[in-house]
Amino acid sequence: MEDPKLEKHFKSHRSTVTSLSFSPNTKQLVSGSLDACLFLWPFKPQVRAYRFVGHNDAVHSVCFSPSGHLIASGSKDKKVRLWIPSVKGESTVFKAHTAAVRCVDFSSDGQSLLSSSEDKTIKIWTVHRQKFQFSLNQHSNWVRCAKFSPDGRLIVSCSDDKTVKIWDRNTNECMHTFYEPHGFLNDVAFHPSGTCIGGGCTDASVKIWDIRTRKLIQHYANHVASVNNVAFHPNGNFLLSASSDATLKVFDLLEGRLIYTLHGHQGPATSVAFSKQGDYFASGGQDQQVLVWKTNFDTTVPGVDSMNTASSKFTNGNDLMTNDYTTTSRISSATAQPKKSQISSLREKSHPETSDERRARKIDISHEKPMVHTYDDGNHLEITNIGPAYANGISRSNSASACLSNSKAIPNGISKNNRATYDIETNGHQNHSPQLTNTLEHIVQQLDILTKTVAILETRLTMTEGKLQEINDQGQRMAQIDNPCWFTTKKINSHLYLTTENYFFEGNRSNIWLIRGKARDLIIDCGLGVCDLKKHLENLNLLSKDRECIVLCTHSHFDHSGGANHFENECKVLIHQDDYQGLRNGWQEETLNYVKATQFLQQPYQNFSTRDYRVPATKCEPIMDGHRIDLGANDELIVLHAPGHTQGSIVCYYPRTKSLFTGDFVYNCNHGSELLDWLPTSSVQEYLRSANNMLDFLQEHEIKKIYPGHFQILNDKNRVQELLQQYIDSKDDCCSIAKASCFQAVTKCFFRTDCFRCCN
Ligand SMILES: [Zn+2]
Ligand SMILES: [Zn+2]
Repeated sequence: MEDPKLEKHFKSHRSTVTSLSFSPNTKQLVSGSLDACLFLWPFKPQVRAYRFVGHNDAVHSVCFSPSGHLIASGSKDKKVRLWIPSVKGESTVFKAHTAAVRCVDFSSDGQSLLSSSEDKTIKIWTVHRQKFQFSLNQHSNWVRCAKFSPDGRLIVSCSDDKTVKIWDRNTNECMHTFYEPHGFLNDVAFHPSGTCIGGGCTDASVKIWDIRTRKLIQHYANHVASVNNVAFHPNGNFLLSASSDATLKVFDLLEGRLIYTLHGHQGPATSVAFSKQGDYFASGGQDQQVLVWKTNFDTTVPGVDSMNTASSKFTNGNDLMTNDYTTTSRISSATAQPKKSQISSLREKSHPETSDERRARKIDISHEKPMVHTYDDGNHLEITNIGPAYANGISRSNSASACLSNSKAIPNGISKNNRATYDIETNGHQNHSPQLTNTLEHIVQQLDILTKTVAILETRLTMTEGKLQEINDQGQRMAQIDNPCWFTTKKINSHLYLTTENYFFEGNRSNIWLIRGKARDLIIDCGLGVCDLKKHLENLNLLSKDRECIVLCTHSHFDHSGGANHFENECKVLIHQDDYQGLRNGWQEETLNYVKATQFLQQPYQNFSTRDYRVPATKCEPIMDGHRIDLGANDELIVLHAPGHTQGSIVCYYPRTKSLFTGDFVYNCNHGSELLDWLPTSSVQEYLRSANNMLDFLQEHEIKKIYPGHFQILNDKNRVQELLQQYIDSKDDCCSIAKASCFQAVTKCFFRTDCFRCCN
């Protein structure tokens, strides 16, 4: 068995590191901090770390998805963000709770995400579209931490209400509650086998419970201050803990003892995590440092094999679910209504173990190894990080090791507690008159009924909350019914209709085109999405279930793609592949999502708030330059890629009417130099190239009508050629200081950033 070795040392956070998670391939490590940032640390030398900024307050929890494609973070700002772990640092955000988010965790299939909060709830969301599924509401104080079981069927949570709860994810019911009399758990984790949970407690202890027998099976009192975070080694044989006593400790769970104390942090150690293979672990502290250690000690232990043998005996929590345990209340489950079996098991607890029991325990928790209480006699090493040179000082220590829950030699919380329970129960039976006993039993029964009633009410409350959330989600669509006047539709000719949102300010009011094709229809751009365009067109009989309709977005900006989500289930929604990700994920940076209250001349619906406005992640399909949109019987439109305004901007050529649909690529503004090429999505170089290409195209094709994304229809191509030429010419003398500063001012007000693109 080799000693763990400090390998890397990252320091860029400006406050306490709160949470760590390895990417599944162990190529990256993500850290969250009270400084409101996330850092993504690469393990390759010479690769830059990425800093993710988005949360408005402390980040409490970070977690890599099982596939490694997403990182979830939970913050004091009440929000959960899902980040793409790449240089861009893109994220989607949703308000998850009414108070600080304390913990986030992905289910092992990557489909669900849970969040726990200071609002006392745990909520479960779909990862795709972040749809609320249900909440767990029985805690009466902050829920510090919650985790899915490895098989995803259970959830464990710990709260400042001094309880740890096990939940059945299918029924949303609390299946068991563990009580922590001396403090509360800061952190809780499932053992890789799914049969045990471990936690770190404010009373400086590390504890492990078996969730099948619902008993505390290991109890380590080696830390001298609050234990902030724990992590099981993936082979299940070790547990790592981080404490406010500035140390990390490694416990050998098979032998039930402390094997290492690691000193690396100056001040409280706040977080730990193992890599997926267990070959590395990371730690974070109040000293703003992230340390990465090579595990080493797991290599010579025949851990994986013995673990596998042991696991096969475990039932992955089945016992817990099939057990006839029906109530979670302390009163009914433990003390007040003793059953014979409980008394006898409690009595055994307060006596030395029988040899049978000891044998059973051996198999159960120690995976074929003797489970004996041992004092550390020299095998426990202390490792000290003595500075940035990463030299490890290793010193032997004779400090006391693990203290087991069933140990008589070192009394501890749980055994005392059991004895106290036993006393009360025996008293109840021995000293009280039968009458009093009857009365007490009656009271207990009443309490039991009350508890069950409360549980039912809580379930109903959860269901109501779920429904409310769904109604909220659909609020925008529903609202359209209240406001049939939001859209104005004009017939341009027998096969073209123009719809506009006339209560939105003209400068950004987009043109929504509906082409009646020979066999199917095409909608080009969809408006803001604040009201339901689909329903509006159906009301006008311009859209019906019997006739196919395709939706095309000329680019990802909100004024063109915001309404696409109303069509996503029944129509094909198309967008150029370079703008696809933005719309598919509802990224703020690519959809812009920029609306101000003053831009609405009328509220689209009651209680509309521009602050909540966003383009939702929308199901769509990517298309490329040259894509043909088939409207049947040789009626088709041809997609021309015209990047510049955005990467994936397109122009659509419609040979049937010799017309062009130009989106934001070109429209009738005062002067071609006003075309928008300075947005964060824009590129002047590409715009210039596209403008030149379009001039060529216009020369080669007869074009009778131009239908732009904004403003009036243009009746001849000369005006378009003029605008594009003006645009090209304006770039010859571009970047005059006055213009740049003016654009910068505009950009600043859009995105509150100094960074903007001009001529590059
Ligand atoms: Zn645009
Ligand atoms: Zn636009």
